[in-house]
Amino acid sequence: MIIAIDGPAAAGKGTLARHLAVELRLAYLDTGLLYRAVGKKVLSLGVDLEDIARAESISKALKPADLEIDGLRADDVAQAASKVSAIPGVRAALLEFQRSFAKSPLKGKKGSILDGRDIGTVVCPDAPVKLFVTASTEVRAQRRFKELQDRGSTVIYARVLEDMNERDARDSSRSVAPLEQAEDAVKIDTSVMDAEAVFETAMGIILAAAPEVNVF
Ligand code: C5P
Repeated sequence: MIIAIDGPAAAGKGTLARHLAVELRLAYLDTGLLYRAVGKKVLSLGVDLEDIARAESISKALKPADLEIDGLRADDVAQAASKVSAIPGVRAALLEFQRSFAKSPLKGKKGSILDGRDIGTVVCPDAPVKLFVTASTEVRAQRRFKELQDRGSTVIYARVLEDMNERDARDSSRSVAPLEQAEDAVKIDTSVMDAEAVFETAMGIILAAAPEVNVF
């Protein structure tokens, strides 16, 4: 069983994927972390974000332990991730890892769930369940703003909104694997839903599409 979840930043994909992974005993991969790890290494090594060859070699050398690096959630890392993720060689280097995770989930798991931008369109086009989780830009920016405030950041809302618009535009307009809804994905707009309602909606869609997922 493979569940593919895509959507823009701060739409609620990660919260949903983690909850579904526990409920359905699936291995979970947050694919954004792979691009964040490459972006973080590029920043910490002082490499120019336009240096395609260096970004490619960093992505080829990426190890699972790199997904544990501190600071991957920071906003400058998100922007760097969005820039390096537009490089075709970086995406190619990370593709096999994602596909093999999807096909060979860890022992004791019944399948896998991956979230990102191109899971339903490129990484796992044959996934039996595809969700496209989205929300209005303002709602997503408000969520991210609150998250940053809770972490003690003094960032202003306008800046968060601007960064989010910039990242979404870059992710949607790149030539390779842009952020887009797969034709056979079901859209969930979380703008006026809380996490529990999103989870219940997703469970309804999953059980209708793949009733076997619930059989232990
Ligand atoms: O999901 P998250 O915000 O952690 O992703 C960080 C960035 O990584 C995104 O803005 C996007 O540019 C890139 N990404 C991607 N493809 C994925 C997952 C993330 O291009 N499957």
